[in-house]
Amino acid sequence: MSFKRFNLSEPILKALHEKGYHQPTPVQKEAIPQIISRKDIIGSAQTGTGKTAAFCIPILQLLQQGRRRRGIKALILTPTRELAAQVCDNLNFYGKYLPLRNTQIFGGVSQNAQVQQIRQGVDILVATPGRLLDLMGQGIINLKSLEILVLDEADRMLDMGFIHDIKKVIAASPAKRQDIFFSATMPKGVQKLVMSIMRNPVKVHVEGTSDAKADIHQFVYHVEKRSKHALLKHIISEKEMKNVLVFSRTKHGANRIAKNLNRSGIKAEAIHGDKSQHARQRALHNFKMNSTRVLVATDIAARGIDINNLPYVINFELPETPETYTHRIGRTGRAGATGSAFSLCDVSERGYLKRINRRTSRKLATVEHPFCQRITADKQLPVQKSNR
Ligand code: AMP
Repeated sequence: MSFKRFNLSEPILKALHEKGYHQPTPVQKEAIPQIISRKDIIGSAQTGTGKTAAFCIPILQLLQQGRRRRGIKALILTPTRELAAQVCDNLNFYGKYLPLRNTQIFGGVSQNAQVQQIRQGVDILVATPGRLLDLMGQGIINLKSLEILVLDEADRMLDMGFIHDIKKVIAASPAKRQDIFFSATMPKGVQKLVMSIMRNPVKVHVEGTSDAKADIHQFVYHVEKRSKHALLKHIISEKEMKNVLVFSRTKHGANRIAKNLNRSGIKAEAIHGDKSQHARQRALHNFKMNSTRVLVATDIAARGIDINNLPYVINFELPETPETYTHRIGRTGRAGATGSAFSLCDVSERGYLKRINRRTSRKLATVEHPFCQRITADKQLPVQKSNR
């Protein structure tokens, strides 16, 4: 099936062709026609499935006719600045032959350039909630002309405490509008929000984006806490990983992991909330250009990082919730490519591992390694050899 089936306009088809998208992904197949027919959508799809294009393409299609009216017609809320930048890049690309103006606003940088953009007129605005409310409070932005509201990664926004901000944005929007929510998981908070504002939303659920992603090989290494740094180096070297994303639970931990790897000659950079926007963008650029081999990130900083064909993800610590595990491993195995996710698990993290195994309905394969002898002998853990 090609994108032509959606009756998209020529300028959009041309941009998609240039981008090398020949056929829609499953989430795009389901969501694009529904959004074009002005339905409210609640989509459960992870990053990596093509969900950004699943809402950007139909929004561009819907709004291209209305350019003559002034004002913000679509607002896309994202939890992080990285994701806002990425969604805006997508819009700019798919809409490159359209006369629509897209812009992004987020905190952590001066507002001046953003205000200038807004004053020149914007059709589609991508924003993080804090900066948006700030500029609304200053009277620089109003949402009177809004037709479409998108919440991207709604579960993560609620996790990050944005619920009140989201409610304020909704209260400032016209009652008659189209709502589109995307969320990797559907916790109660998201369901409640959906029920409170949407009328008869169409549910878009994409098989294969569930927690047991078949295209991601998942492994666990049982290890003592103090041997984790040595094991991490061992995994990266043994598998000759050229490009690997390592997750750290804390900012301080991320710095320490990067420092240790650099000391052993493995080039690594850390990104987290204490780094400036500029430093984060630079680290991401270096990683994408392969001049940095390892990017160490906290969960919040990693949200929205779009790196194509990332083959490996390593969890230096297991996350406390299985949802976070799903988000993390979703960084690899994107858009049909295969990937591997490795988790380092010390004895204090066994409970988290159990929950992950339960959630993914399969046991992560346990890998034998040079630092596990004492642990396996002591604890009689089942060990499965792996060549990955
Ligand atoms: P997303 O889930 O939006 O983060 O997208 C994951 C990756 O898939 C991005 O790198 C997109 O550029 C890519 N992608 C999205 N749609 C398509 C498509 N129809 N064909 C090929 N790649 C795609």
